Amino acid sequence: MSKKEKGIVYLVGAGPGDRDLLTLAAEKAIKSADVVVYDRLVSDEIMELIPADTKLINVGKNVGNHPVPQERISEILVEEAQKFKKVVRLKGGDPFLFGRGGEELQLLVSNGINFRVIPGITSSIGAATYGGIPVTHRDFCSSVHMITGIGKRGTDPNINFPALVELNGTLIFMMSVGSIDYISSGLLDAGMDPKMPCGVVENGTRSYQRKVISTLENLASDVKQNSIKSPALIIVGRVCSLSEDFDWFSKLPLIDKYILVTQPKSKASRLADLIRDAGGNPILYPVIETKYIKPINPPIDDFKVLAFTSSVGVESFFDDLIEKGKDARSLSDKIIIAVGSQTAAALKKFGVIADFVPSKFDGKTMIKEFAKSGKVTPEDGVLLLRAEKGSEETIVELENWGARYMDYPVYRTNYVEHDPLDMDNIDWITFTSKSCVFGLLSTQDKDMLKDKKALCIGRQTEDLASENGFKTYVSDEATIVSMLDKLIELSGGHDE
Ligand code: SAH
Repeated sequence: MSKKEKGIVYLVGAGPGDRDLLTLAAEKAIKSADVVVYDRLVSDEIMELIPADTKLINVGKNVGNHPVPQERISEILVEEAQKFKKVVRLKGGDPFLFGRGGEELQLLVSNGINFRVIPGITSSIGAATYGGIPVTHRDFCSSVHMITGIGKRGTDPNINFPALVELNGTLIFMMSVGSIDYISSGLLDAGMDPKMPCGVVENGTRSYQRKVISTLENLASDVKQNSIKSPALIIVGRVCSLSEDFDWFSKLPLIDKYILVTQPKSKASRLADLIRDAGGNPILYPVIETKYIKPINPPIDDFKVLAFTSSVGVESFFDDLIEKGKDARSLSDKIIIAVGSQTAAALKKFGVIADFVPSKFDGKTMIKEFAKSGKVTPEDGVLLLRAEKGSEETIVELENWGARYMDYPVYRTNYVEHDPLDMDNIDWITFTSKSCVFGLLSTQDKDMLKDKKALCIGRQTEDLASENGFKTYVSDEATIVSMLDKLIELSGGHDE
């Protein structure tokens, strides 16, 4: 490759961990990269944003668990830029704050490689904020200082403690858990008040964040007693006295809860986002994937009623209709019925308002209630547009009614292969359909799932989960928002 053809390296800050603290520029970069070179400070939920076909290089750990040496990382960037157009070097926090971003850029510069830099929210401020600690406050200080607890190549950081004490500002020590004795005795020896408030924030901005509030004289023992581990910030300064009043994060209702989301990947983001907003930790574990059946030729002219039981069914049907150069006007003389508000919402996207939505989230109730509504005669006919191998109960209900019908599959559900999960760490499993229950059962040892708490979207899903040994709960309504409400209600201590 000539010099001109070399790729661009984006040096990108990923922020402290919470996915929502990623900048728009960073999100854009990681979604369009050919290669992402990352390390251990980048959170899993940010890694999940990277498309599956992107080449990933982990420089956080290599064989033997030692990080890849810095010189080698810089070389990797040069090598990848010679092979690919867009290389993202993704780093925790901000790339230039103790992130060695400068060192990596120097090698790019000397190799004539183009680069851009996208700043990130540094953990030194972001993690402090999520711990309820504002890094400055006019009543307490007029400066803030970031200090590393590790010197170059692991040497003593050689901190000028008397100077720091004299500054009277907020001190934020990073990479300092291992040198906590050195730091606290250094500050005390330099004359800092032993009662100076201190805060420690471990894994800041993540659902499993921990915080310890202390005073300088107890700081080292509190860090050890609580087994604080990296990554953690050690904050010394009077602003730490505000941390109880300003703590909003640890009060979020799903804080530190690990919640398994079994929905297909294409659907999971809504529930996962709501869980995250409530402080929880969604574990994306799609156990099924849905695939449109193609080609299809549903005989819509032969039936008065079109019945949809899921949003995927709607999407597959309209995908085909539009491919054939038609649109919602082809359905103008039809009665459209739909199970659940999500299915009705999917229809609306294609310009169709469902004529009938049953009171409960299942196909059986849909037919039962619709039959009673007297809108059509059984002879008018029902075309069921749904998954291959859909529930038998719906068919039974159509037969009870004496309706002319056709069960027409428009999509199929496949199980996704997975390595078994360590279920001990999971607080909740969520099931948004019966196939998710079957899917999870197909990947896990059934005994490991026994008595696990499962929140289900409807009665039918709940019955199936319960028959298979889960301890089941059901949301009040068949919506994702209602599932979230139920998770919050049940996490409020009623069920433990
Ligand atoms: N460039 C990064 C810092 C890299 S140095 C930034 O701007 O945040 C690594 C140190 O950052 C860790 O030892 C720890 O002190 C701090 N750190 C990084 N992520 C953190 C987090 N989520 N919570 C608390 N501290 C964190």
